[in-house]
Amino acid sequence: MRQDNVKLNDLVENIFRLSPGQKKGLAKLKIRSALDLLRHFPSRYEVPGEMKNIADIASGETVFLKGKMSGLKTRRTYRKKINLSEAKLSDSTGTINIVWFNQPYLAKVLKEGDFLVLNGRVSEGKKGLYLANPSFEFKNSVSEYSEIPDTPAPIYGETKGVTSRWLNLSVLKILQKVDESEFNDFIPENILKKYHLPDLKQAMRNIHNPRALKNAEAAKKRFAFEEIFLIQLARIRERIFRNLKPRFALSVDYEDLKNFTAGIPFKLTDAQRKAIFRVAEDFKKNEAMGRLLEGDVGSGKTIVALACAHIVIQNGFQTAYMAPTEILARQHFDTFIKYFKNIPAIKIGLITSSECKKFPSKVSKSKSTHISKSQILKWAENGEIQILVGTHSLIQKNVVFKNLALAVIDEQHRFGVRQRLKITQKNSGRVPHLLSMTATPIPRTLALTIYGDLDLTILDEMPAGRKQVMTYVVPPAQRSRAYEHIREEIKKGRQAFVVCPRIEAGSEELEAGNVQNPISNFQSPTPIMKAVKEEYDKLSKEIFPEYELAILHGKLLPKEKEKTMTDFKEGKIDILVTTSVIEVGIDVPNANCILIEGADRFGLAQLHQMRGRVLRSEEQAFCFILSESSSEKTLKRLAALKQAKNGFELAEYDLKFRGAGELFGSRQWGISDLGMEALKNIKMVEAARLEAADLLKQDLGLKKYPFLKQAMKNYENNLHWE
Ligand code: ADP
Ligand code: MG
Repeated sequence: MRQDNVKLNDLVENIFRLSPGQKKGLAKLKIRSALDLLRHFPSRYEVPGEMKNIADIASGETVFLKGKMSGLKTRRTYRKKINLSEAKLSDSTGTINIVWFNQPYLAKVLKEGDFLVLNGRVSEGKKGLYLANPSFEFKNSVSEYSEIPDTPAPIYGETKGVTSRWLNLSVLKILQKVDESEFNDFIPENILKKYHLPDLKQAMRNIHNPRALKNAEAAKKRFAFEEIFLIQLARIRERIFRNLKPRFALSVDYEDLKNFTAGIPFKLTDAQRKAIFRVAEDFKKNEAMGRLLEGDVGSGKTIVALACAHIVIQNGFQTAYMAPTEILARQHFDTFIKYFKNIPAIKIGLITSSECKKFPSKVSKSKSTHISKSQILKWAENGEIQILVGTHSLIQKNVVFKNLALAVIDEQHRFGVRQRLKITQKNSGRVPHLLSMTATPIPRTLALTIYGDLDLTILDEMPAGRKQVMTYVVPPAQRSRAYEHIREEIKKGRQAFVVCPRIEAGSEELEAGNVQNPISNFQSPTPIMKAVKEEYDKLSKEIFPEYELAILHGKLLPKEKEKTMTDFKEGKIDILVTTSVIEVGIDVPNANCILIEGADRFGLAQLHQMRGRVLRSEEQAFCFILSESSSEKTLKRLAALKQAKNGFELAEYDLKFRGAGELFGSRQWGISDLGMEALKNIKMVEAARLEAADLLKQDLGLKKYPFLKQAMKNYENNLHWE
């Protein structure tokens, strides 16, 4: 330690003498200042002496148990000739079996009625729970148990050169040397009091050096609240600013809207009808709408947007419709033409980086035609075009509207926060209504947090007549029946996917909960290939020798990938053995079966999206879910896939029962693991939202809260999720 008085902004390399390896490691952890170090929170705590009651333990936990031992027997197993010692441990709440392998001396050491402290992992066998190979410690009597130390030891995320132990020691040194006045708590005191949250200084001490686990928990709660609170403040503030500007009050002619929807060749779902009504009511209000429309792929979001655009046209204003890809933009352009071509004097435009089009063309009233970009820009600016569809090109500086009353963002999760903001800044002065649409199923608390400035509408209903994917959760013993089913389908000329989890059985990596987003690129650590390759070998040699199989995974060359996908599309391949990251573009209507291995390792919403890949044809589609675990809990969780109406229900289910790590990899949302954990707690999210709104109502400029203002600035500068 080089200095006596540490400031939070001091660089770690000026506080401690660091080796080159440590410097590298810290850089990797993005730790520069003392504050960064303090904000590198432990990922968990080891509690050496935490005692559990036998009645409270569950399979998979590593526990300390105390109690009286009885019934010690030692024998050799019949087949493998292993020395096996068995006994029971009882406390006041219950009894558990203990098994030791190959420790014959135990029979001499342990006596009936010994008081023991055991430490080991709880497993589940045919005869119920048991403790396998626990370490043990003798106690003379029950009273001695209380001497076991119980200060939790924080464990930090490490990297090469920087160990958890070093991190802990350095943090503790800093906490000793830093002046109290450095901890400026930016959460107002009344809020801390109201929700019983520790202040910043105390929380820092307790998260790094807790006397008991409950102190660490309280500290974590505070930091989680803090994060959600900051996000809410930012979002709500955006909304308030938006509403300060003049906007478009529209009149809604419901008769006219009815006529329009009557012209649609199918019957709208109730969910679509309600969503349109909500937007229409928003239009009439004296503030700019900000609405997020969430609905599974195929739930019919486009029609909702079309109906909204129709209202805007009737009011004589303009609509902009932004999509993430050129293909999608072109498709929407055609859809708009299809539904609006009979409106007198209608003009619809398309703008992407490679082409600009307009409808109708001068020559033919029913066709569109290519035009120059400058023409399109001119018409947007003078208000002649009522609807402009486009890609990112829409938010370029030179695109200006005369009267943009509605901005629609399709697949909004594909755009960054700033891009989403830009489309609302295309008029001089007036703010358009905003309709943001997405198919990514996320739970309500997460949506409220990251889209706190948007109202939420969920399309939770599929158009009538859509076939459901028949989903089977297949117990390990019935695997061959699933294969036979697939064989029957291939015989009829169909194709199948077999998806393998990216990590081999037994590897720990997935337990961290970092499920990869299936929509993201091919990218997988090495072990997955083995899983895919092994499965491919087995399937092609033993199970489906008569069919054509192929492998698809991230480590293949782009050329190889392309060839495999083309072959699959053309039907040259019957079964594609692949990873969970089947590429987005892959659209093979003839594939109607998907078998997912190791399904217990995926989030339910993710499984739901994978299953969606076979929902593309008129054929009945089938999904076989195989899990390596046969535990009741797992099977029950997977069975939710059969009952759930949509991806959102599944996302909620996983959040509740498995935690936020399951939600497509939390990184994607720009929220820390701690913050994600907090999303389980709807009350906390609502509290943070309420307090943020309240505070901004009194003091929009945060004049009375200089620390909070600074924290907001830091937060906004660190937004890495754009
Ligand atoms: P998404 O929500 O994925 O954007 P789309 O809007 O593209 O879904 O709709 C998917 C398909 O379903 C389109 O072909 C659309 O015309 C059709 N569709 C939408 N709503 C209905 C409905 N109520 N009944 C029948 N088909 C519908
Ligand atoms: Mg869509």
